[in-house]
Amino acid sequence: MVGFALLRFTQPTIEMVGYGGVHLPKISPMAYQVDSYSFQGKRTLIRVDFNVPLNEQFVVTDDTRIRAALKTIKRVSDDGGRVILMSHLGRPKGGPEAKYSLRHVLSRLTELLGRPVAFAEDCIGDTVKTAVDTMQNGDVLLLENLRFYKEEEAGDEFFAGQIAENGDVYINDAFGTAHRAHASTAVIARFFPTDKLFGYLMEDEVQSIDRVLNSTAKPVTAIIGGSKVSSKITILENLLNRVDNVIIGGGMAYTFFKALGGVTGNSLVEDDKLELAKSLLEKAREKGVNIYLPEDSIIADAFSNDAQRTSSESRGIPSGWMGLDIGAQSIARFTEVILKSKVVLWNGPMGVFEMPNFSQGTIAVAQALATATKEGAFTLVGGGDSVAAINQFGLAEQVSYVSTGGGAMLEALEGIDLPGIAAIKA
Ligand code: AMP
Repeated sequence: MVGFALLRFTQPTIEMVGYGGVHLPKISPMAYQVDSYSFQGKRTLIRVDFNVPLNEQFVVTDDTRIRAALKTIKRVSDDGGRVILMSHLGRPKGGPEAKYSLRHVLSRLTELLGRPVAFAEDCIGDTVKTAVDTMQNGDVLLLENLRFYKEEEAGDEFFAGQIAENGDVYINDAFGTAHRAHASTAVIARFFPTDKLFGYLMEDEVQSIDRVLNSTAKPVTAIIGGSKVSSKITILENLLNRVDNVIIGGGMAYTFFKALGGVTGNSLVEDDKLELAKSLLEKAREKGVNIYLPEDSIIADAFSNDAQRTSSESRGIPSGWMGLDIGAQSIARFTEVILKSKVVLWNGPMGVFEMPNFSQGTIAVAQALATATKEGAFTLVGGGDSVAAINQFGLAEQVSYVSTGGGAMLEALEGIDLPGIAAIKA
């Protein structure tokens, strides 16, 4: 321990415990749209998200998104449908660019699917029509990058109609772009008033978010972490209408402590968000939502894994020191709340988890989620860094669901109706 006196403040009344009746979760078995549709002989346009990273030799370096689409592709193909896959890749400037060709994805897709995949040099027009006309039932065809046409991102209806000409049925399985009103993700659905469906991946994502935001099993706990309050305001506001408990961790917690009159040293604080933090706490109180802040922190004298470190009350961090992780008491408290929950959402790390010396809080939360899942809770991990963290700790298989869509997931949690989802539901 370094020698300094801990500053003490009156305990704010922000933690309220006690949940009334605790009942078992009711997570109904999933009925997927694609399971009850007959694809036999149908030209099936599937919007997938094959926007995968490539190395300098144009080899796929992370095939997670391809693997995530396989189940839907196989279902349609096995059912005798003619699978026509479409996606974007990278950010071409509105015309063909060899480096963004979806041809780069072909060999990995073929390998993972375990069956041949044909390639069309375009995504609309005669090239596609000719390729589709020669397809047999069960065949798979991959179209060229949709974003080689600027009309894709513009949500152009005529372009959407040109794509639609090659399909009898449309499936959207691209959750990662569900928050975009692009031609192939939303507008195209108008051309298939009755034959439009979610793929397995999309349906898993939609149902997972629904299970959190509209859960009948209670208590529901949201764990929100990460660096800044400013990027999570709308999410927090929406969640206050939906959940019973909000656990706040990561750098953003210090803005709350400062707003409550605490001293936060050199910790990350957004001084222009202090009033907002106060009003969020007030709203939570009005709505009867329990807010849990990390009462203690692991603090460091520099933003470095090798910095000197010790623990401190989070509302009394001395000058020259900064909170980089939640402390042991907070870990115990958060774990207790998580284990009492029937539904848990986790978005954002509890500390600077990229540095091993400040990763304990995030690891503990990931482990608590895994335990809660084992005990029957529904647990959803979403948003860039918490997904990276759960993967890094090897616990992704031990939670109920890990979302594949960063931006789309965050917008859904903010309460925004995602165009790609609304178009199928309409
Ligand atoms: P976000 O993108 O807002 O979800 O924030 C994720 C980032 O927040 C990660 O890179 C973490 O290292 C960082 N982070 C978490 N806790 C802290 C903290 N106490 N101080 C500074 N950065 C943090």
